[in-house]
Amino acid sequence: MLISCPYCGPRDLIEFSYQGDANRTRPDRVSMDVPAWNTYIYDRVNTAGDHAEFWQHSGGCRMYMRVVRSTLTHAITSVEPARAHASSARRAKRTAR
Ligand SMILES: [Zn+2]
Repeated sequence: MLISCPYCGPRDLIEFSYQGDANRTRPDRVSMDVPAWNTYIYDRVNTAGDHAEFWQHSGGCRMYMRVVRSTLTHAITSVEPARAHASSARRAKRTAR
């Protein structure tokens, strides 16, 4: 499987490390909402199809990226720097308030 790093270009999977599910939303860090924390920590969705994941180019530029990959075919449809995704998610959260 090849992952196309936004900085380095296409590289073999062996250069990358999986960093987790990119679909979960962390509760506010000072929140005492125990059910929300339980959901964040323990509930996982086993998606059959496109799934957003965080990966790090640990054997290269060390960039964190958000990859959309099909769990059925391993076909990658999108790769973007995780920082770009976090910025747009923060903007969307601010305008929703
Ligand atoms: Zn890279």
